[in-house]
Amino acid sequence: MKFGGGCLRDGCTFSQSCAMIGGNKRTAVVVSAVSGVTEQLLAAIEQARRHERNIPVVLAGLAAKHRAIIEELCPAGRQKKKVREAIASQLVQVRRLLTGIACHGDLTPAVRARLLSYGERLAARLLAGILNGRGVKAKALDAHLAGIRTDESFESASIDRELTRKILGARVRPLLRKGIVPVIGGFFGRGPLGAITLLGRNGSDYSAAAVAYALQANRLEIWKDVDGFMSADPSLVATARRLERISFAEAAELSYFGAKILHPRTVEPLSGTKTRVFIRSLKEPESPGSEIVAGRSGREEAVASITANKRLANIRVHGAGIGSKPGLLSGISSLLGNEGINIHSVLTSQTCINLLLDPDDGRRSMKKIRALANGIIKRIEFEEHIALVGVVGDRIMEKEGIYARIFTAVAREKINVEMAAAGASPVACYFIVKRADLDRAVRAVHDEFFP
Ligand code: ASP
Ligand code: MG
Repeated sequence: MKFGGGCLRDGCTFSQSCAMIGGNKRTAVVVSAVSGVTEQLLAAIEQARRHERNIPVVLAGLAAKHRAIIEELCPAGRQKKKVREAIASQLVQVRRLLTGIACHGDLTPAVRARLLSYGERLAARLLAGILNGRGVKAKALDAHLAGIRTDESFESASIDRELTRKILGARVRPLLRKGIVPVIGGFFGRGPLGAITLLGRNGSDYSAAAVAYALQANRLEIWKDVDGFMSADPSLVATARRLERISFAEAAELSYFGAKILHPRTVEPLSGTKTRVFIRSLKEPESPGSEIVAGRSGREEAVASITANKRLANIRVHGAGIGSKPGLLSGISSLLGNEGINIHSVLTSQTCINLLLDPDDGRRSMKKIRALANGIIKRIEFEEHIALVGVVGDRIMEKEGIYARIFTAVAREKINVEMAAAGASPVACYFIVKRADLDRAVRAVHDEFFP
């Protein structure tokens, strides 16, 4: 069972998560950091870089967040003292790393990765402590010591599933045999040279799949505090329904287009195995959740889900023959890439390049592109108030008339489609509308396919 940050947010969600674990025999648990802690650690790095005197404040914030949960859930006594000490000793390590960063004024990718891994180390100790307090025998394990082995990328490492199976299997199975629940911190592992490596944001899903593989688990349950995979966002579409089965390709596209439910590499370690993967929701613990299947969903309907990205901006770069200038697009994308700016999508024509990106990156990107001043670019426009509707389904490309139905439904609502792209993935298409039209557009397409 894997519990995401949202399931580890406060006393209430911790309690619910413990209740889910409690009744299960021979279960290994993987955790994310407590909700918001990875962001706090990222902010702590910036604070420490600026000045050493900022460190006590950020540490106090981290301590308070974990302490509040201990106070709420651990009855006074020996167990409570133990959890408190475990958390405190981890925070000492965080302080040492931050002080190092402050002294040095800079940080290496290795130090950054190590520091960010503490969110999961803290969460594992907290959850194991609470479980023990409730009479469920549990033991916190850090991913690198449990046996998660990766390649040597510090930011987005790939798990070596065979090596992990060998090491983690041997270390974790004896605990399971003794009836102890291993609580493993996700998100990180150990590279070939011994350094801590990270699996990318939301990487604990990926860790959980590797643990499931190593233990040859019958099933992997990924617990979230949001609705699992639905035919649309239920806060937008009252008639949205839960998807019982969804293919991995569909899940990946839905995550990409807005429903950030799963790490994109989650089911990789489980390919070729019989392990079943379910997304389950703390909001609806009785529901079996959505099963993610390796091949096709087996669904009759062409469309699985309509998703939305409310916050998007477009940078339109104008210039004669812009679409046929070799190297221009790569110039722009490496320029933005070097700034850590992610381009969601690109649409080009002979006279324009359109870059879809996060509105927060918009102004900075405009400045960078303007500075390119290479004689080709004539004008740059920035449009901020747009949104994307993504339509996902593993038979979308195979059935005739699907696109016609999508755009007819939107036209009936008198909504203008500003841009559209299809075929980039065999299971998804998307279109752009004014942000003010987004909700109506999603409802229109949903009603068309889920009457
Ligand atoms: N805590 C990490 C993050 O926020 C990993 C995870 O949540 O799975 O990205
Ligand atoms: Mg997280």
